[in-house]
Amino acid sequence: MSAISWFDDFEGIAYRYYDLRMNIAPLVSSRKEYASIWHDTIRYWIDPTIKIRFVETGDKYWFIMGADSQKPESNISFFKLLQKSEHYERFKKGHGGEAYLRLGTYAHKSLKDVKKDALCNCGHEAVDHDENDNDECLYNKCDCKEFSSFQVNLLKRKKTITDIAFLDEKDATDDPLVKACFDANKSE
Ligand SMILES: [Zn+2]
Ligand SMILES: [Zn+2]
Repeated sequence: MSAISWFDDFEGIAYRYYDLRMNIAPLVSSRKEYASIWHDTIRYWIDPTIKIRFVETGDKYWFIMGADSQKPESNISFFKLLQKSEHYERFKKGHGGEAYLRLGTYAHKSLKDVKKDALCNCGHEAVDHDENDNDECLYNKCDCKEFSSFQVNLLKRKKTITDIAFLDEKDATDDPLVKACFDANKSE
């Protein structure tokens, strides 16, 4: 078996409730990128072999995902070192041992693209941002200088994941997928 390629050229992970189960969705920047990742790789994954591993280190965590493929010659695995977030913590508590894997696309929206009640990344609505100047937030004490929101769109195709584990950093490399990932991608 040849060494598998590792892929980390995605923006992050969205964790959402959708269709009753939690969804894990690596975020890609375009439909085109979605098409190639889904159609060349994930489509061929054999659902019961899909594994996701989380290894926390301080306020970050490693996301590591791989599976056996019906097309092993072009298979890839995914990893990324990410910042912990509320969504991540909610997934950790609530996944119940299974999730749907989808892909998501994301778009940054600016003030002119959104309705008045759209939320900025600062937590305040578009209507609180100055439309004349440089879109700064007028909310008391907020130091946001420019309206910006991050909109995620989960795509329909999905796989079911039933092998999810959160591992301690000290014994994480007992797991073969984590070990393979760290050997290839973690420099120390
Ligand atoms: Zn703002
Ligand atoms: Zn604000």
